[in-house]
Amino acid sequence: MMSVEEARATILARFTPLGSELVSLLAASGRVLAQEVVAREDLPPFANSAMDGYAVRAGATDGAAADRRVRLRLSGEVPAGSVYLGTLDAGAAIRILTGAPMPAGADAVIQQELTRSADDWVEVEAEVTPGTNVREAGSDVQQGTVVLRSGIEIGPAEIALLAALGIDPVSVARRPRVALLATGDELVPASDPLLPGQIHDSNAPHLNAAVALAGAEPWPLGIARDRADDLRAHLRAAAGADLILTTGGVSVGTYDLVKDILAEQGNVEFWRVRMRPGKPLAFGMLGNTPLLGLPGNPVSTAVTFELFGRPAIRRMLGCSELLRPEVEVELAGEPLERADRRHFVRARLASRAGQLVATPTGPQGSHIITSLVGASALIVVTEGSGVVRPGDHVPALLLDQAHWEAS
Ligand code: AMP
Ligand code: MG
Repeated sequence: MMSVEEARATILARFTPLGSELVSLLAASGRVLAQEVVAREDLPPFANSAMDGYAVRAGATDGAAADRRVRLRLSGEVPAGSVYLGTLDAGAAIRILTGAPMPAGADAVIQQELTRSADDWVEVEAEVTPGTNVREAGSDVQQGTVVLRSGIEIGPAEIALLAALGIDPVSVARRPRVALLATGDELVPASDPLLPGQIHDSNAPHLNAAVALAGAEPWPLGIARDRADDLRAHLRAAAGADLILTTGGVSVGTYDLVKDILAEQGNVEFWRVRMRPGKPLAFGMLGNTPLLGLPGNPVSTAVTFELFGRPAIRRMLGCSELLRPEVEVELAGEPLERADRRHFVRARLASRAGQLVATPTGPQGSHIITSLVGASALIVVTEGSGVVRPGDHVPALLLDQAHWEAS
């Protein structure tokens, strides 16, 4: 049986980045950047005022104070969006508004609140030094700087920076198409009533959502029955997918046929991993398409997708970070026993007195779907013997949903 690391390395070896496409900046949120972004210009592009006030030569305010106002000649106005064409004389001031370019000859702005003015003069009641209230060209980004690296996820902050630098459209990773197939004679869609012995398919809807959140395009193929011909027919419909995810039918029972089809039409690279939940996990190539056969139990599906499916998708996206961040947490609640398989325990996180504390979400059976709800982390109980006790420190993987317990 493979370790989690060996299984992941075997899977990842089968994936490479898919390539890129151009999208408009407004459509880039949630996509993965597929270009290095180098600033073609300074940001801000020109020195400008940080305040509404008066542009001056700092030296002209020497000695000014509340009880010793210095009077300067008012020689024009520059609002944001225009340019003052002349040069500021010593002894003069120019009315300037926030964001307007600094006039030639001016090196400081005195804010309006420290002045009094009339039609053709302004009195200042404080000294300013060169640079006061001036936002220099390039003070945010200097031309030629690498501001964003390929492989990062684009969010609102990155979009603001790309827009400010005049980059639209933007090159992003092509979204992998991920075919999803639930298998099982007992399964019916959530919208159908149950007959005796049937259950609702929760894995395909789960994966549909999780695959989209991972940055890929889900491609639902419905439910296949536990018959080789029906499985073959459904899998034929997956032609053209970048990855096929199946759920169920990978264990050792008579009706567990996914491995057989994989062996018949390609190869099985492995089908068991030393972990809990999710020991039966098959991976192989169906023709030229990688197929990850996730176990049928809903919690096993969720955890194995998280540990193996998501990283594969992120490799296809060219992401610089394939795995979830790992943090150290303090265990709360019941003790957890170590075993020969690595245990991934769904948990809620809270911050108590500067320490991240993880409390398991309740019973952890692989059919307990409610153990997934509200889980913000997976506690990693590594293989071995002995017990992890409340108060012990253990690693945990941070999940997407930041549900925080009130502390
Ligand atoms: P299997 O791996 O096919 O033996 O399935 C293991 C368990 O997971 C069984 O109790 C199945 O009924 C259940 N199961 C399989 N597929 C699904 C699914 N798509 N949705 C919910 N439960 C499932
Ligand atoms: Mg089954």
